[in-house]
Amino acid sequence: MVQEQAQEPYSRAMVVVAHPDDAEFGCSGTAVKWSREGVEVVYVIVTDGSKGTSDRHMTPERLVETRNREQLAAGQILGLKEVVFLGYPDAYLQPTLELRRDITRQIRKYRPDVLVTTNPVRNLMGAGYLGHPDHMAAGEAALAAVYPSARDHLTFPELLQEGLEPHKVREVLIIGHPSPDLWIDVTDTIDISIRAIRAHVSQVGGREGLEARMKEGRRQNGKPAGMEYAESFKRFVLP
Ligand SMILES: [Zn+2]
Repeated sequence: MVQEQAQEPYSRAMVVVAHPDDAEFGCSGTAVKWSREGVEVVYVIVTDGSKGTSDRHMTPERLVETRNREQLAAGQILGLKEVVFLGYPDAYLQPTLELRRDITRQIRKYRPDVLVTTNPVRNLMGAGYLGHPDHMAAGEAALAAVYPSARDHLTFPELLQEGLEPHKVREVLIIGHPSPDLWIDVTDTIDISIRAIRAHVSQVGGREGLEARMKEGRRQNGKPAGMEYAESFKRFVLP
């Protein structure tokens, strides 16, 4: 069944992903659509992106600085409320209790109605793509933070001491799930999301055919829903 919208409109959304640029590839058309509708959208970028280069002369420190700047520029294009960087080392991410607590802190602070994250399970359905371990780790930690850590005041009591009250997230959307059941029409926002992807110059600068591939991917996504361009998710409505 195709459902384009949530049962109730959202006021606040949070996107938790491993790397600067993951959200642009996974859900930026949705992020800008929500922003335009008045939803406050916060990105939480878990790693520092310090491994994302093949340039032997680039230092990790310079790369982190560059990628943070690129992510902030993309966030401006999309109209995000905030971009939070957790600064974990790129490529070594594990779904630890420390990471779960750090994401829980952001959930309790920004109190999203909906949280978007990557699939915590390795999905070997896509030709030629194994999946990045950081994406799975970020997804696992984010889901564990939504349920039950953000909800339960006795979990991570230090957060309560910081003044961060428990919070129940209403819905979770998973990027990259093999059986999506929610399609969001991004026909009106695909061009601006491609501009945001282009802001990640260190990652996609000079990449041939990027725009055509992005459009083709979202066109394929939209087919089952009868939409010209769509981003698709697996959706969970929490009790
Ligand atoms: Zn990534």
